[in-house]
Formats: sequence, C-alpha cells, structure tokens
Amino acid sequence: MRFLAIGECMAELAPSDAPGEYRLGFAGDTFNTAWYMARVAPQVSVAYLTAVGEDRLSQSLTEFMQASGIDTRAVQTNADRTVGLYLISLDNGERSFSYWRGQSAARTLADDPERLARAMSDADLIYFSGITLAILAPDKRATLLKALREARAQGRTIAFDPNLRPRLWESPDVMRNTIMQGAAVSDIALPSFEDEASWFADATPRATAQRYLDAGVMTVVVKNGPSPVLYAEGERFGEVPVTALDRVTDTTAAGDSFNAGFFAGHATGQSLADGITYACALSREVVQHRGALVDADLPPLPKG
Ligand code: AMP
Repeated sequence: MRFLAIGECMAELAPSDAPGEYRLGFAGDTFNTAWYMARVAPQVSVAYLTAVGEDRLSQSLTEFMQASGIDTRAVQTNADRTVGLYLISLDNGERSFSYWRGQSAARTLADDPERLARAMSDADLIYFSGITLAILAPDKRATLLKALREARAQGRTIAFDPNLRPRLWESPDVMRNTIMQGAAVSDIALPSFEDEASWFADATPRATAQRYLDAGVMTVVVKNGPSPVLYAEGERFGEVPVTALDRVTDTTAAGDSFNAGFFAGHATGQSLADGITYACALSREVVQHRGALVDADLPPLPKG
C-alpha cells in the first residue's frame, strides 16, 4: 500500500522555555498527516509531494522528512524560493500565529503536470486538502485537479480534507467553489463540521455529509470535535462516539492526526467504523500534548 500526501510543509518557530528564544520545527496540514501515518503504520509506504528551495533550511526540511520515514522522491526543488515560515506567539497561554508563506516554494508544486502524473501513478491512496488548493494560483489549482481526476480514473483512491481557511483564499465564494471542485475529484472526504457549518451553512453533520455525497464522493467522514463522528457510505449512515476529554492541551493537528489514523485503518483493511475508532483514539492522544507533531507514545494501530 502506497500513500501519497500533497501540500505544503512550513518551518515553525515555537517559543521555547527561555523567553525570547524559539525552537525550529516543521509542520503543515497534509504533512502532519503523512508524519503520523509513517509513525503509526510503518508497513505503509508514505510519500510527500511538495516543492522546497535549495537553501539549507529546505535541505533540513527534506532531511527531517526522510528521518521521519517519509519518501521524498516527489519533493521538487525551486532554486528561486524557500519554504514558508510561521511563528507562534504566546500571550497568557493563548497561541497566535504569524505567517510568511506568500512566496513559498510549495506554491509551485503543481507547475509541472508531468511530474504530478508520475508521482501519482506510483500511489494507491492520494491525499490533498483545501489548503493544498488554496496556496496555488487559480490555473495551477486546475492543473492539480485535472491530475487527480486522471489518477482517479486510473483506479487510484483520492482523499480530500476541505480544511477551510478563508484567509488563504481570494474570497469565500472562490473557496466554496474550489472546495466543491476538490470534492468532485475525490472518493473520500474528511470535513470538520464546525468549519463547514460556518462557511456552507450546514445545519447538521448529516447535511455536510449529504453535500459531499451529492458532489460525487463515495465515503464521507464528518469530524465534530468531542461530538460523535458521522460517516456516510453511499446510502449507509453511521456514527462513532468520541470519548471526549474535558480539557484539551492543544487542538493543533487534531484533524490531521485523525485523518492519519483513518488512512492507516483504510490501508490495513479495517472496516470504516474500526478505522474511525482508531482515528479517534489517535487524535485524542494528540490533543493532550502541545504542538502539531506529538512524539508521545501513540496508540498502536490494531492488526487489520
Ligand atoms: P475536529 O477537527 O476539532 O473536529 O477534531 C478532530 C478529531 O479530534 C475529533 O473527531 C475527535 O476524534 C478528536 N477530538 C477533538 N476534540 C476532542 C476532545 N475534546 N476530546 C476527545 N477527542 C477530541
């Protein structure tokens, strides 16, 4: 089983214990999912498709991916650019984020349709997100969607997390339109209800699921924080309860780690409900620790 995630991984500067000092890390939504996949499902081949620069920081990112067990053969280099950066500020325990990603190399990841097709031809399960689409120029969004459509026609399974981030888009309308185009090339959608309700005015998780089914998705999994996860497969709907925590430490990468748990279950032949149950256990552990990439003992993937 070969898994390919597509998107942007950024350099992260997070406050360290010493005031005024920052620790360098790397994170980004689809990348976080790839990282967790490599940790919990070492039997799956995990690859990442992005673009980085040729500078030392870009090399460090590539080395970090490789050390994490991620195949970097689909990482392109662009000598004129470097990786995007974000810095986390802490104000009385509240985190806020500043971004420098407008010119990041990842924005060129879909410049070469042949490279996209080649990387996808090697994969069984291909994962992208609304953020992957948002960072691309409009014509490159179309290039990526076309490549995904063709990969799907050739039998690859396409999975999509809408990951709605209106600040990355030209307008809410462009976001909504392009997200539904992303859904139209996908077999699996993994939306988060809170975001979908805000931007698509869905009254219930079931309405979210129905909208993605209507767009042509076969399997929809609607995350909803501590509330049950709703899933839909064709006509069949079901729910998986979440063992809710009263207090979470940091919700960063809750959805990303959930997706990894779900894909790990999918890749090892688990039923939909069992895959979601494992995804809940994994994300439940992740939200109890600070940061996107949690190095704690993660719950083991049940044998498929
Ligand atoms: P979200 O993207 O916020 O909907 O969260 C993704 C997943 O993280 C959820 O489906 C849950 O499995 C898990 N999660 C989020 N918040 C909590 C919580 N308070 N307690 C336990 N699990 C949670």
